[in-house]
This record gives sequence, C-alpha cells and structure tokens, in this order.
Amino acid sequence: MSRRKIIAGNWKMNKTPSEAVELINTLKPLVASDAADVVFCVPAIDIIPAVEAVKGTKIAIGAENMYFEEKGAYTGEISPSMLTDAGVSYVILGHSERRQYFKETDEDVNAKVRKAFEHKLTPIICVGESLKQREQGVTIDFIRQQVKIAFSGIESENAAAAVIAYEPIWAIGTGKVATTDQAQEVCHAIRACISELYDESTAEKIRIQYGGSVSASSAAELFSQPDIDGGLVGGASLKTDFGSIVNY
Ligand code: PEP
Repeated sequence: MSRRKIIAGNWKMNKTPSEAVELINTLKPLVASDAADVVFCVPAIDIIPAVEAVKGTKIAIGAENMYFEEKGAYTGEISPSMLTDAGVSYVILGHSERRQYFKETDEDVNAKVRKAFEHKLTPIICVGESLKQREQGVTIDFIRQQVKIAFSGIESENAAAAVIAYEPIWAIGTGKVATTDQAQEVCHAIRACISELYDESTAEKIRIQYGGSVSASSAAELFSQPDIDGGLVGGASLKTDFGSIVNY
C-alpha cells in the first residue's frame, strides 16, 4: 500500500508570535503540495496566530509538547484540550531534546501518547539512539524498547494513525545526516516492531519519518526509501529550504 508522505517542521524554541506569522506567510506558497501532508510544529505561544495564519491552506499546525494530565496544578504545562481547542492536530512527543534536557522518560512519553489519542491528536513520536549506542551496536535494541514502551496500551486502530519520527540524536542539529541505508534500516526495524506488536496491516499503515539534519539536498533520496514516509525537519524548517524539502 502507498502511504501518504508527511513532512513536519519542528521550530523548537524559535520565532516570536509575530515572527511566526511572518515566516508562515513566506512559506505558505512554497509548501503547497497535494502529494504530502505538511505540518508546522510551533512553540506553544505561537499556536493561536499560526492557526489563524494557515487558514485557507492545507497546512496543519502541531505542538512541540503536551502534558498528560487533563487540567490542574501543573504550572507551566499545556493540556491536550488546550491544544485541540486552539486548532492543533499534531503533537511532537518524546523529542530527544525533551528526553535529554527535561528528563522525559519512555513512561512519560507513553502517558502522553495515550492522552493524545484520547483527544484525537496525532502524535509524532520521536525515537533515536545516541552516537555511543550506535557505536556499541545497540541501536535497534534501544529503539525497539522506545517503540514498545511508547505504544504500550495503545489499540491498533490508533497505532495505525500514529507517526513515528526516527531521529538519531547524533544527527540532530549537527549537519551530520544519517546515510540513506542507516535511516532505512532503522525505519524498517521500527515497522517490523509495530508488526510484531500489532499486525502487518497496522505496520503497513503507520507513517515513519526520518529526522536529523534533513536538507533540500538530502530529502529526495531519504524520502524515497521504502520505509521512510517523510521527515521531521528542524533547522531547515525555518528557512525557504523547507519548500524544497516538501516538494522534494
Ligand atoms: C529535530 O529537532 O527534530 C531535527 C530533526 O532537527 P534538525 O533538522 O535541525 O537536525
């Protein structure tokens, strides 16, 4: 079966609300595509103006994080219904920067994935190994563990609708893109893991992105691999290059 490509920008902690609107207005004509789903994952404070700025286009707005409780005394956190009410449809969960700097665990990620589905948000679940793990030869074992815990208690219907982003930590923001073979090998292993957890049909439906220094010059080869269904793009999503990546 052919899966629809999904190309998402992860803006990280960049762009004020007014800068966000300016960037969206610049990118809007460049990312118009009938061939792929296009998502801008923006800082929480940019969500409302971003949703407004993409009205009338097919661009979806995503969040970069979310808490797993409904409401209450969690100062500084954003709830799933705050996101849906604001017009968000995707949420990045378990990005390696959140795992590293904010100590998010696999169990936290799983709680967030469960909540996202309860609220009909599509999670973009990030997994990826460190350079040390790659050198130790434990990449696939480590990623299988991340995937298994992230999907614990998730029904197959929801799993099929999820997006997984394979992002080797050593490739994020370093300019050091994984080779096409490395990226395909791990994305294939992730699909096999989903097939073991659920069944082949779920594995055939789930979309798996590659992320890590994707650029206009590397996108076409990466995204044409059989198990790579698009990309999660950091640095290049803040530039007009994102248009070339979407239209690879
Ligand atoms: C990311 O942070 O998700 C990412 C892939 O960043 P970059 O493209 O800058 O490596």
